[in-house]
Amino acid sequence: MPTAVAPKTFKNYIDGEWVEPRGTRTIEDRNPANRDEIVGIFPASDKTDIANAVEAAKQAFGKWRLTPAPKRAEILFRAAELLVERKEDYARDMTREMGKVLAETRGDVQEAIDMTYLMAGEGRRQFGHIAPSELPDKFAMAVRAPAGVAGMITPWNFPMAIPSWKIMPALICGNTIVLKPAEDTPLSTYNLVQVLEESGLPGGVLNVVFGDGPDAGAPILDSPDVTLVSFTGSTEVGRIVSKACAPTFKKCHLEMGGKNIIIVMDDANLDLAIDSAVWGGFGTTGQRCTAASRVAVHKKVYREFVERFVEKVKKLRVGDGLDPKTDMGPCINEQQLNTVMKYVEIGKNEGAKLATGGHRLDAGALAKGWFHEPTVFTDCNAKMRICQEEIFGPVVAVIPFDSFDEAIEIANGVQYGLSASIYTRNVNNAFRAQRDLETGIVYVNAPTIGAETHLPFGGTKNTGNGHREAGLAALDFYSEWKTVYFDYSDRLQRAQIDNVE
Ligand code: ADP
Repeated sequence: MPTAVAPKTFKNYIDGEWVEPRGTRTIEDRNPANRDEIVGIFPASDKTDIANAVEAAKQAFGKWRLTPAPKRAEILFRAAELLVERKEDYARDMTREMGKVLAETRGDVQEAIDMTYLMAGEGRRQFGHIAPSELPDKFAMAVRAPAGVAGMITPWNFPMAIPSWKIMPALICGNTIVLKPAEDTPLSTYNLVQVLEESGLPGGVLNVVFGDGPDAGAPILDSPDVTLVSFTGSTEVGRIVSKACAPTFKKCHLEMGGKNIIIVMDDANLDLAIDSAVWGGFGTTGQRCTAASRVAVHKKVYREFVERFVEKVKKLRVGDGLDPKTDMGPCINEQQLNTVMKYVEIGKNEGAKLATGGHRLDAGALAKGWFHEPTVFTDCNAKMRICQEEIFGPVVAVIPFDSFDEAIEIANGVQYGLSASIYTRNVNNAFRAQRDLETGIVYVNAPTIGAETHLPFGGTKNTGNGHREAGLAALDFYSEWKTVYFDYSDRLQRAQIDNVE
């Protein structure tokens, strides 16, 4: 249904004010389940807007870094409580702009709530170290210090959770922020910022500039006043971000693609493994960096698994995520839908067996959205492109294997290293798998998705660059270790020299 009233126009948030962008270009935030519906109109900002935001963050840093962390935490506690109150409204907004079903958008807002409470708690911790000095009458400790202005570039698939993973630890550590959210899902980030503003965050501490990657994202990376950058998105753009950060030696956190696997051993609880493969593969329409886009199944149970898995996938109801009967929503945009359709062709040409799906869904009301059938390829070879490349859509490739060692080789034989899972009731295989899988996250008897906010999140190989988000690991990225020595001996004491006989 076309929007009856004119869609709301939004502004950037700079120095504690909602301000017009310098230019007049805008970006329409449209519902991917119904392209006729404009959820909001957002600025397409440029480098001048970013420069203003960076300047505001730089100015605000002096005071914010000296605000006691427990005081910063009080703002976060209030923000978490407002998010709890507004969870349902924000989840609905998110489904309208992003497409995933309400149960999942509620989960996305909940993740932001969890992260906000977690980091608020860190306001009274942020522990450092105290260590004995090697010299007498000398005291040694290491404390966390704020880093400066944090630049953040976020994707559309978790439009409130991912910004919260970056904003909350950055704030509690005493940094100020310039954030550019994804152009497809600005409203959810706007809602998060609104809550922080209402909770009393001082002006300039958090600045949000809407726009596309090259015009509004790239200037953050080029700014000499931005100290660190956190990026979540594609490996392709991650490489651009990494290169752009290098000349000014910015600390840079990258969270990129995945080609995650569920391994089903012959002793697995098959009912559980099948349910998990459906959820891991088709939750969020497969548009999670942790989505289980590969399922490797032991040949002894392969036929049974495939038959029952495909049967379940066929029953998934695709539609508008606001409809409680819907199991799976649309792809985020036309480009993503085209990518899915391209990979379906690639899979067919490579000789994989198309067991179900394989087409765009455009009958009736679905024609207004970017819907695609849940798709399963079976009898795949691990080297096929559909088993190697990230598709980011509702396509799962099933690969048969003969032995545990072969399964681990298949799992590790990709360029990514985010999440992997094994279904087995053999404790020895479970332990060997968690040791040998080359991913940042391993699940035993659970799907590849479902990260909890108080544990580190991130991946190896082309998924990440060694940093972790969430948990206490996030504090390591958003603070600098400062080592402090107090010498109260009243004489010159030389380390490594005067303590040696
Ligand atoms: P995805 O489409 O999976 O979200 P992208 O990597 O394309 O992944 O986008 C992630 C974020 O990176 C978005 O906010 C996007 O606007 C931003 N982005 C895209 N290109 C650039 C670029 N050249 N420089 C900085 N940011 C960019």
